[in-house]
Amino acid sequence: MWIDAHAHLDHYGDALPAALDEIAGQRILTFSVSMNPDSYRQAQAIAAQSPYVLASFGVHPWEAPRFADNLPALDELMAESPLLGEIGLDTYWVEDPTTYPAQRRVFEYFLAAAREQEKIVNLHTKGAEREVLDLLRRYDIRRAIVHWYSGPLDVLDGLIAWGAYFTVGVEVLRSETIRTIARRIPPEQLLTETDNPGGWEWLVGEPGMPHLVMDVVRALAELRRTDQDTLAAQVRANLARLIGDDPRLAALQSLLTGS
Ligand SMILES: [Zn+2]
Repeated sequence: MWIDAHAHLDHYGDALPAALDEIAGQRILTFSVSMNPDSYRQAQAIAAQSPYVLASFGVHPWEAPRFADNLPALDELMAESPLLGEIGLDTYWVEDPTTYPAQRRVFEYFLAAAREQEKIVNLHTKGAEREVLDLLRRYDIRRAIVHWYSGPLDVLDGLIAWGAYFTVGVEVLRSETIRTIARRIPPEQLLTETDNPGGWEWLVGEPGMPHLVMDVVRALAELRRTDQDTLAAQVRANLARLIGDDPRLAALQSLLTGS
């Protein structure tokens, strides 16, 4: 079994059946994160078609301004979702600083819910890595998955010390910066992702398919001087530890541990 702890299955469109076939064929446990309420509803409908897919509700920082003025409208979906994401901050791709306060309001609202409901969060940190670390500390969020980290190494070290988990994805196939980061993550905090289908599209111009996660595992094994099976087993063990005895993720846990 493989782990794709950050993908957007609702973005597949016509290629979704093919993607779900790969997920079932290769047994790729997939967290389908969402951008907004509609995206979560679609992810839920997709998850209903596969035992390997779990839908997660979040409001992406790019979408935050649309929701910042009516946060309680998000409560029901937050309560319903077994984990929360994609959430976070983005001061890199979002160049308009007037949206930053809205991003923070939405993100903090989710962090407060994650603390209260004891849920895992799936985080976007681009350009705002230090602030995200500060907020994880302030809200005492221990179960965090940091997606596609590409920020400063000292903040990476802070997040590692805080106990965050990190999904390394397809850019490890292309970027020396990402390879440096991937080497620095302790083995027991490492997870894998694809950010499909958009991550690969951004890198090479064509949508990514689920099997890409195996290329990520191969690349990670090579740069960490281990073999693929050992690395894949480590990632599975890490996700199992992160999930722990979370009752909302019990089905996933038994899939993962084969019980
Ligand atoms: Zn994403």
